[in-house]
Amino acid sequence: MADAKAPAANSLAGRLARLGLKRDADFALHLPLRYEDETRITPLADARPGVAAQFEVEVVDSEIAYRPRRQLIARVRDAGGALSLRFLNFYPSQQKVLQPGVRLRVFGEVHEGYLGPEIIHPRFHVVAAGESLPEGLTPVYPTTAGLGQGTLRRLIEKALARLDLGDTLPPELVQRLGLPGIAESIRYLHHPPPEISQAALEARDFPAWRRVQFDELLAQQLSLRRPTVARRARGAPMLRPTAKLTDALLRSLPFRLTGAQGRAWREIAADLGQPHPMQRLLQGDVGSGKTVVAALTMLHAVEAGHQAALMAPTEILAEQHYRKLAAWLEPLGIEVAWLTGSLKKKDKDAAIARVGAGETPIAIGTHALIEDKVEFARLGLAIVDEQHRFGVRQRLALKDKGSFAHQLAMSATPIPRTLAMSYYADLDVSVLDELPPGRTPVTTKLVAEARRGEVLQRVHDACRAGRQAYWVCPLIEESESLQLKTAEETYTRLVADLPDLKVGLVHGRLKAAEKAEVMAAFVRNEIQVLVATTVIEVGVDVPNASLMVIEHAERFGLAQLHQLRGRVGRGAEASACILLYAQPLGETARARLKVIYESTDGFAIAREDLRLRGPGEFIGARQSGMPLLRYADLEDTALVEQARAIAEEMLREAPERAEAHLQRWLGGREELLKA
Ligand code: ADP
Ligand code: MG
Repeated sequence: MADAKAPAANSLAGRLARLGLKRDADFALHLPLRYEDETRITPLADARPGVAAQFEVEVVDSEIAYRPRRQLIARVRDAGGALSLRFLNFYPSQQKVLQPGVRLRVFGEVHEGYLGPEIIHPRFHVVAAGESLPEGLTPVYPTTAGLGQGTLRRLIEKALARLDLGDTLPPELVQRLGLPGIAESIRYLHHPPPEISQAALEARDFPAWRRVQFDELLAQQLSLRRPTVARRARGAPMLRPTAKLTDALLRSLPFRLTGAQGRAWREIAADLGQPHPMQRLLQGDVGSGKTVVAALTMLHAVEAGHQAALMAPTEILAEQHYRKLAAWLEPLGIEVAWLTGSLKKKDKDAAIARVGAGETPIAIGTHALIEDKVEFARLGLAIVDEQHRFGVRQRLALKDKGSFAHQLAMSATPIPRTLAMSYYADLDVSVLDELPPGRTPVTTKLVAEARRGEVLQRVHDACRAGRQAYWVCPLIEESESLQLKTAEETYTRLVADLPDLKVGLVHGRLKAAEKAEVMAAFVRNEIQVLVATTVIEVGVDVPNASLMVIEHAERFGLAQLHQLRGRVGRGAEASACILLYAQPLGETARARLKVIYESTDGFAIAREDLRLRGPGEFIGARQSGMPLLRYADLEDTALVEQARAIAEEMLREAPERAEAHLQRWLGGREELLKA
């Protein structure tokens, strides 16, 4: 959005703004992308194809040619050779300069062109009388159209001359880290001294770069940790448990907690006993048993005299939670309220009234839980399942139903550790990295679409043997109505192909009650084959379903495929997931299918997903308001961890230094970050 004060896009200020360059500090931190060696002149006769070098030449002539595009071609020569300079985009001023007899210094790579050796779009300047060669390497800066290296370099020089680059880190810390000072690092990178080699300077672990990377990560961690520190300063009820209810639940379960569940539960219980709000993410692969941890957490709040609420993103999922939790908790004398949009008004109003009066200690539901008229008498804990499915505002809305409630988010989309530390810096994380015993791993098969007949036979045989199957329709992201049409066609086709089986259809456009009815029929095995869109992606738990077919698997993302596959393998029976794909496969689709074929570990898959997509897309950087890293790398785990620890220390012990550091790094870039 252009605002009244924004400079015109094609003015110098506009171009600089596009690069986030406003204050002197922004210019100082605008560091070179790479360096070029202009300390020497290479004779044209020694030019090697593909190797960038500097030549000093004289213009023979220049012309605008049309072959077929309009272009500027200058012929130049030195004592031993000749060369063409070719410009496909050029300014009239450039053409004017290239007059016969003018001496130029030209930098670029020589290629064998149509008319002999040439350089396309070389950097060049007219040699001034008595001009010497630079002593050190020449920095090349990231820039934007219409903004030349020379201009940028001059502006950066001026900024560096004016700026006080005092260190924002205390000297003893800089020493402890074993890094050079920030001022000397920045000046060094803008002006490398003559003795330093290009290879050393461009290496990522060059000390001056290390220091810059550290400072950048520190700024990121500071900006992300600041809300956490503020949160710690707020109050929340200290939930003192009696362990009566939680112990009773543990005794009544037909299984023992896994080690990971026990660990997560202890971490959560410790948070709940603190006088400031918990904000924790419970991550666990599909089937790792997050629900029972949620149940224990809710009972802990109830024991301490508070209410607890659990919100799920879909009606199917919410209902499943409700059924499971009611079955566990009602025998303990705990009433569980059920609140969704599809309830009859009378029932809904009754549930809202009981929650508001504090008569029901636990409420489970969908977005209906955060409607304005829902009020809790004493909400102490808000749990949000599959938190990435909700917007930030919705997530917070539930917690805000209680004054300073504790919050637990649950997710089956594992986030690699470094990412979690950065993007979710405001969350503490517990991980269920262990599946309950007795699971039979799911076999994954990749099958070309042409062999659909064999797959149908397999579904048929499994269902005749008493098992059930999911058939997932092709994903059509661009159009919801097309998606619906495809689902209906798939359904019709399967009904015809499998005449002796009962086939059902569930998709996002069904009314909640209709959806629930289909799911209930599937649970009772009255439907053997369930044709579904991705509405079944999260949470659905039907242990007798041992086969899943995903059509056009190449269109799905990695996280989605992993989630879908997690719907099978929930019983004792050996399960399989068949990924049908259409040929030919694109390169990324092939890479994705290979990952899902080779691994069933959600964390390993998430790491690959991150690698294939990059952090921005993986997490939705735009949404997260995440400062993008220019110099540092999130995969640099050790440095990220160091920055995180020091950010915490600085926020606690030297808040004014933390503020100065943030100002330096992010002060001028806020608008860029919001873009
Ligand atoms: P998710 O983490 O995907 O939400 P659930 O909570 O739905 O997983 O658990 C998956 C299944 O495993 C459920 O049927 C649940 O009752 C069962 N389960 C959970 N914890 C254990 C355990 N420690 N031992 C055996 N089964 C468990
Ligand atoms: Mg779940």
